[in-house]
Order: sequence, then C-alpha cells, then structure tokens
Amino acid sequence: MKAAVYYGLDDIRYEEVPRPRVGQGEVLIRMKSCGLCGTDISKMVEKTVTPPAVLGHEVAGDVEEVGGGVEKFRPGDRVFVAHHIPCFVCHWCRHGNYSLCPEFRQTNIDPGGFAEYIRVPHINVARAMFRIPDGLSYEEASLIESAACCLRAILKCRMQPADTVVVVGCGPMGLLHLELALLLGASQVIATDLVNYRRMAGEKFGASHSIDPQEQDARGEVMELTSGRGADLAIVAVGSPQAISQAMSLVREGGTVSVFAECPDGSKLTIDPNLIYHEINLIGSYSSTPSEQRIALELIRTGRLKVKELITHRFKLNKLGEAVELAREQGESLKIVITA
Ligand SMILES: [Zn+2]
Ligand SMILES: [Zn+2]
Repeated sequence: MKAAVYYGLDDIRYEEVPRPRVGQGEVLIRMKSCGLCGTDISKMVEKTVTPPAVLGHEVAGDVEEVGGGVEKFRPGDRVFVAHHIPCFVCHWCRHGNYSLCPEFRQTNIDPGGFAEYIRVPHINVARAMFRIPDGLSYEEASLIESAACCLRAILKCRMQPADTVVVVGCGPMGLLHLELALLLGASQVIATDLVNYRRMAGEKFGASHSIDPQEQDARGEVMELTSGRGADLAIVAVGSPQAISQAMSLVREGGTVSVFAECPDGSKLTIDPNLIYHEINLIGSYSSTPSEQRIALELIRTGRLKVKELITHRFKLNKLGEAVELAREQGESLKIVITA
C-alpha cells in the first residue's frame, strides 16, 4: 500500500509501505479523509518525531477488514477513530488528566493517518471508534477530533452564558473555539489575528468584532467593548508566548486564559504574578477523550457545529508535502484535509 512518509520537513515521500495485518479485536480502515493538524506540523518542525514516520491522526474511512472477535463493526462500515485512548483508571485518569495518562500516548493507530490503510488496535476499536452517521461526509467526520479537543478546552474554562470571549488566533482551532463559545452562550466573541483573511473568517463564523493586534490597540478595543472590564475568557489558539501575554492583558481580573496551542520548544513566558494573585486563571488543555469525541460528533451531526465551512483545501495523499507547506504559511487557508 502507499503512505505519505515523513523523512524531513521538506522531504515527505509518497511510497510503498507494508500493509498492516489485523490481529484479534483489531480493525483495518481504508482511509478516506484525514485532517492535517497543527500538531502534525509542530511534530515535523520541532522534530519530536523520528523519521521515517507516518503522521496524521484525524481519520475517517471505511472498515476494510475486521480481526477475530470484532462484533461491533463489519467491512463497509463508515467510521471515525481516535488515535490515543486513556485507561480511565490510573492516577492521572482519576484526576481527570486523561490525556496525560501513560497509556494515552502509548496507544496509536498504525502506521498513522496519512496512509491508504490503517490498523486500529483493539482498545481503540472498543472505546473510540464510532460509526459515521448518514448525512455526514468523511471529511466532516475527520474534524471530530479537532472539535473534541476544542470542546474539552473550553469546558475546562467554565465559561458562563453571556460572557465576552476573545479568540486569539483564528486558524481552524480558533474558529472551532469561536463556534463553541457562541454555542455555550457567549454574548460577544472578539476575534484577533495578524492575518486579515483569518480575521474575516472570524467574522464569518460569528465574531461580533475583529482586531488586528499589530495595527490596533487590542487591550483598548476589548476594554471599550466590555465597559472597561476586560473579557471573561481569552482563548489562545496559536502557539506563541506573545499571544498568551497579550491574552493575559485582555481578560478582566478573575478572568480566564486558555492556553490551547503548543508553543515552540524552549519558549518562555514572562507574566506579572499579581495578575494570577488577582485571580486570573491560566488553563491548559491537551487533546481529547472519547467522551468529548462523542459530543463533538453529535454537535457536528446536528449541524450545531459547522465544520464543512472550515475546510478550504483538499490534497490527495501523494501531495501531503504541498499541504504541509500551505499549512505552515498560516495565511489564506483554514482546515486542510488529505483525501484518499
Ligand atoms: Zn488533531
Ligand atoms: Zn489512565
């Protein structure tokens, strides 16, 4: 079978790799759509993955083959699957830190999403593989994971109805957060981004105002829109310490900053500790669990969460290199999906 194999940032090869064989309780999926995620890009840029490797984890496809003992699925089923699964019983899981569970990072699909066929281990089949409802396309289903990560992050922030929310960084993850903030009852969402195209996308997805932090006084604007109080919640959906500092200046005392995106290795953040003393909460969130994936699937199925409009580019599996190049520009593109 073919896969798009990462050898280096500018060296992604479409080549022959062995087709995985399914064992007891496992399923082989034929990939139909796999989203290109910011974390795929940062793994390549930060070299946290050892080449050769097949990346990609936002997978939707058809069941091609099932191993012994699999009763829930049969060949031809349209499915979404998550790549990491927590054990739900360890010390981390008992504290709600499911994505920090040691088993979470050990579980994975084989060889990765950017391949023609993908072996799904039995634990993923049992806990995090869902049938795609009729009426939902493969590419919409491949956004379940992204949506679930944003849902987990925003729920951790305990926002209240009628809150003012600022979204810092209007790439696909920022826009999903924007939609979720409105779904959870935000009275206004303010979108900020350095790129005009992305600010416009923010407005299209329902932001009442957009700010260019390079050209405008973001703090002044937010203060004016909140009667001088500051936002209740600022979500940082871009991996930049400066963006986090800015978000700290946009929220009110007692407000919350959600650190959603991973910053480059070695990043440092300088903050006034008195902001924390004055009850500004810094909340981190990484990845998602099957519960959020279930909810995300339901929000997408019912049209409450619009994901199709986020997809601006589609590339065939043999063009993954071009897709990565486009995503790295963080310019006039939103969600990029790789198709079979
Ligand atoms: Zn992802
Ligand atoms: Zn665990």
